[in-house]
Amino acid sequence: MNQHMRPEPIPFIDIGAQRRRLGSAIDVATKRVLDHCQFISGPEVTQLETMLAAYSGAKNVITCANGTDALVMVLMAIGAGRGDAVFCPSFTFCATASPVARTGATPLFVDVDETTFNMTRASLERGIATARKLGLKPKAVIPVDLFGQGADHEGIGKLARAEGLFVLDDAAQAFGATCRGRRLGTLADATTTSFFPAKPLGCYGDGGAIFTDDDNLADTLRSIRVHGQGSDKYDNIRLGMTGRLDTIQAAVLIEKLKIFDDEIEARNEAADRYTRGLGNDVVAPRVASGNTSIWAQYTIRLPAGVDRDGFAAQLKAQGVPTAIYYARSLHQQTAFRDFPAAEGGLPVSEKLSSDVISLPMHAYLDEQTQDRVIKAVRGALSA
Ligand SMILES: *Cc1c(COP(=O)(O)O)cnc(C)c1O
Repeated sequence: MNQHMRPEPIPFIDIGAQRRRLGSAIDVATKRVLDHCQFISGPEVTQLETMLAAYSGAKNVITCANGTDALVMVLMAIGAGRGDAVFCPSFTFCATASPVARTGATPLFVDVDETTFNMTRASLERGIATARKLGLKPKAVIPVDLFGQGADHEGIGKLARAEGLFVLDDAAQAFGATCRGRRLGTLADATTTSFFPAKPLGCYGDGGAIFTDDDNLADTLRSIRVHGQGSDKYDNIRLGMTGRLDTIQAAVLIEKLKIFDDEIEARNEAADRYTRGLGNDVVAPRVASGNTSIWAQYTIRLPAGVDRDGFAAQLKAQGVPTAIYYARSLHQQTAFRDFPAAEGGLPVSEKLSSDVISLPMHAYLDEQTQDRVIKAVRGALSA
């Protein structure tokens, strides 16, 4: 390589590599839909729901248009609204909390754990006390499974049962992960995920799904998905939405689900390799005991005093892209700053927002490419 040439940039997520692997399987599957023309509610949608139920162990799977709608639909189904508090971590993607606000309920932000990045039971407890002081009814909790691993479902579930809270698990980044041998999808009253292309199980557009063992809730969700329809298609019995997953996306997901476990294994190998290479230089992400991760992100924390923007710029110059999830916690963002936070504040969310940075992570990261990332990180830290 010419010394003056910039090194070839590494992709942050290599969706193209997966497309090449799947090749004609995807072509055949999508062509089948193009031929039968049932673009909405075609047979692939039902087939995918059956496969996802078998995969997760959940009794009911309701696919839908995206991961945000999945959360909105569950909140509508449980009747969340004005006067209700729904507890959300502040260190998450905006789509965890915006559905709450859209129903008229109040997102109440709680803090997260420094090592797992997920909601803590202690902060949730403080959040419940805060809600009561504000005259809000504690209604539900959304424990997000951030970056690929499950939240403390046992601890949060226990507290939720004692307080009568509905548990809505936002597993958009972690569908496929397990807690004590059980897959996400079965650990909360309802679980949602997203099939956005960059998620570990992504389609070729927008998509999402809801998992629940509650048959009545599942019926309500199926009705909400299609305008709130009743058994008579032209008698709508509640307000709903156009919430369906396209048949073509279902056909894509059926093929991707077949290789998903293999991809999760590859992601775990890549994560282990990063940690071996970087564990002494940065705070490497850790999987809590009893958990497995699907490594939606490999997120490190920089040592105190390291300028994050400068660090990212040095990596970029080496062709190594990075991303900051999340440079602002939700309570630090304009749209959310007027919503309440658990008493005691959100110091861990704020600290994480100031020192995290995510490295390229996907199932097709070869060792040579990964070594370039490791070398660039170590070089930037010793510069
Ligand atoms: C991606 C994501 C969502 C929303 O999913 P969409 O399909 O993009 O609507 C919700 N919550 C979290 C934590 C996410 O990462």
